Amino acid sequence: MIVAEQKPLDEIKSMLKGCKKVLAVGCGTCVTVCFAGGKQEVGILSASLRMSTDLDGEAISIDETIVQRQCEEEYNAPLEADLEQYDAILSLGCGVGVQSLAQQFPGKRILPALNTKFMGYPSEQGVWEERCQGCGNCVLHLTGGICPVSRCPKSLFNGPCGGSQSGICEVDQETECAWHLICENQIRLGLFEEMMKIQPAKDWSSARDGGHRKIVREDVRIPDVEKA
Ligand code: SF4
Ligand code: SF4
Repeated sequence: MIVAEQKPLDEIKSMLKGCKKVLAVGCGTCVTVCFAGGKQEVGILSASLRMSTDLDGEAISIDETIVQRQCEEEYNAPLEADLEQYDAILSLGCGVGVQSLAQQFPGKRILPALNTKFMGYPSEQGVWEERCQGCGNCVLHLTGGICPVSRCPKSLFNGPCGGSQSGICEVDQETECAWHLICENQIRLGLFEEMMKIQPAKDWSSARDGGHRKIVREDVRIPDVEKA
């Protein structure tokens, strides 16, 4: 899932400076699951903003709503009917949700209430850990299902750096060494010999380093003639 967390209240208030009426919009998917932008968080943030701006003598009226997926236009479409009355939309979606709203409603200010962090895994209640950086060329079949891009701070591809102690990463004492885990998994799977093969330097052009990325699937595209 995409993992995000709420910005500090003061930062959100400074974004809302000058607004009189705002619509807070949550998202019912990833950010609901990580307790950052679901119905409950929209309610708590809106109440906090009402109280805080009232105490400051600059009260902002805040309405609340939630859409199932802010990153898809059809879910956001019902918002359009009432938008005129608002000075801005405060989005509690991830960065994709915020940009979807901005693209869909170009005449309206769309403000991000969250900081989008990473694609992650809920390792225990209240803890999310980064698991994938969307490098565009997955190597998990070579690394025992452990991602060296996101879980090794140095994104090493040919074994550990040599700095780990008792399975703990030298960069962060609270993080297991990704390569320690990779070796353990490959031994368990009887694939340790495979790891002796030197991997070529990774081609990072499939990652962010190659610029803005998009996927085009001609087989599922709607031809222009049908769209018209
Ligand atoms: S190797 Fe790349 S695609 Fe696979 S999990 Fe890691 S970052 Fe994600
Ligand atoms: S100790 Fe392990 S996880 Fe940490 S940087 Fe070195 S190889 Fe990567």
